[in-house]
Amino acid sequence: MQKDCPVCGDKIIGRADKKFCSDYCRNAYNNQLNKDSKNLIRNINNLLRKNYRILEELNPNDKTKITKSKLITKGFDFQYFTSIYTTKTGNIYYFVYDQGYLPLENEFYALVKRNS
Ligand SMILES: [Zn+2]
Repeated sequence: MQKDCPVCGDKIIGRADKKFCSDYCRNAYNNQLNKDSKNLIRNINNLLRKNYRILEELNPNDKTKITKSKLITKGFDFQYFTSIYTTKTGNIYYFVYDQGYLPLENEFYALVKRNS
């Protein structure tokens, strides 16, 4: 069965399991895949870094209480954190590296810094 190269659209000539017309197209395809996954990682790293900076800035004394709107105003993105810690009493802390936040009542958050 005749297949077309997914990169350039040329007919693929040769072994039946060949996926690309040439080394050039195979490399171009793999480079693009790497680039996309690297962009994804970079974008998430940037969001984590931003979240970390916001927590650090709002929590200079390693423990404080703030409103959710303060975090949102700064551009905090609640989807991105690096770990979760559940206490024995069932409270769930979300951590961005060593900066953590705990949702409290009435849209307040406790900010904590984990001792290293
Ligand atoms: Zn090709």
